[in-house]
Amino acid sequence: MVSEQRSSSHDERSASSNTEPETALETARRQLVRAGSNLEIDDAILERLRHPTAVHEVTVPLERDDGSVDVFTGFRARHDSVRGPYKGGLRYHPDVTRDECVGLAMWMTWKCAVMDLPFGGAKGGIVVDPKSLSADEKERLTRRFTQEVRAVIGPTVDIPAPDMGTDPQTMAWLMDAYSMQEGETMPGVVTGKPPAIGGSQGREEAPGRSVAIVTRETCEYYEYPLSETTVAVQGFGSVGANAARLLEKWGATVVAVSDVNGGIYDPDGLEVAAIPSHDEEPEAVTRYAEETDVDRLSNAELLELDVDVLVPAAVGNVLTEDNAAAVEADLIVEGANGPTTFAADAILEERGIEVIPDILANAGGVTVSYFEWLQDINRRRWTLDRVHEELEAEMIAAWDAVREEVEDRDITWRDGAYVVALSRIAEAHEIRGLWP
Ligand code: GLU
Repeated sequence: MVSEQRSSSHDERSASSNTEPETALETARRQLVRAGSNLEIDDAILERLRHPTAVHEVTVPLERDDGSVDVFTGFRARHDSVRGPYKGGLRYHPDVTRDECVGLAMWMTWKCAVMDLPFGGAKGGIVVDPKSLSADEKERLTRRFTQEVRAVIGPTVDIPAPDMGTDPQTMAWLMDAYSMQEGETMPGVVTGKPPAIGGSQGREEAPGRSVAIVTRETCEYYEYPLSETTVAVQGFGSVGANAARLLEKWGATVVAVSDVNGGIYDPDGLEVAAIPSHDEEPEAVTRYAEETDVDRLSNAELLELDVDVLVPAAVGNVLTEDNAAAVEADLIVEGANGPTTFAADAILEERGIEVIPDILANAGGVTVSYFEWLQDINRRRWTLDRVHEELEAEMIAAWDAVREEVEDRDITWRDGAYVVALSRIAEAHEIRGLWP
């Protein structure tokens, strides 16, 4: 285990609530309370940060391809904007709820602050299974949603981006619908667009790249040479596939990957570069299993593999109090948002398993979103090399800031990331003051 040296000074706070399953909002609030106790923060500021600034709920009617009409519910939750415009993804998923959007918006506030980006936090979504929509239906739904939230988004106000179930094409429709109504092309209203209309080079692979960079740095810190490090990645979508490919390229042995259909395992290492991501080819992981003699395993089994590094990069709440005691990895790097419940975190801490939190590990996505936004408002393109260089520099700076807190305060990586983020946010609140 990599953190035997650390004392378990947080047991009391960690043990306070073990009620599962928990929503993203419950996890985010519990994490905030715990983080607040590591810092001297005005209680009034902490109380403000427990709540969203606003949650917009909209009704989105959709004419289906057969002429019938279905009505969907959408949300845009804004959490905090003390450091800059609201920023965060748009999720199309049947489980989207108001509370989930608020919890995810809180994580965006911390994520932007850990990265020292001049943004606050937001999140939105539509309660819909995107697989049940044709491309035309998805376009109409997106355009109508954009119209319904038009008054609350904007390039200097609230800037959406892709998340689960949405992609660059979805962002292109949003940008077009918004621009058509404004009467001018406004690429800065949304990030994660295709490069042809103002998107940034390297944006799509950025969350996976940051997961890989953070894994590499942390492995080096704990003296795990990548060439001797085994990795299991849950989720072979954009985040998981890009992280796995880079880690393989940098010398790590990726022994297991999975998608929603299940996983594959080869203790000698998979040939990750040869497997298309779930977005590129939904059946690719299964096909790889059929064409080679690798073992198959379930998503649950993958989480309990005896590997050095586990990267949960699929959905939230996969590491819970039911399986945290069975995790065999030494290091967990969170590719998904909120993969670890509050109770699971306490168990992992107790067991000396280091967890590099989502708000640091997958922050490459919003960081390159920031680069995209800068390119849009400056009407200037960056090369892929420049994006890679600047992302690398931003990730190392953030990782270093968090590492310092981990060392100085003898706290977990999640607590360290919260200390960095909350200090910056609280300082901004103090300086700006409460008006009126
Ligand atoms: N949805 C991504 C996240 O959770 C990206 C957000 C953004 O780029 O604004 O970080």
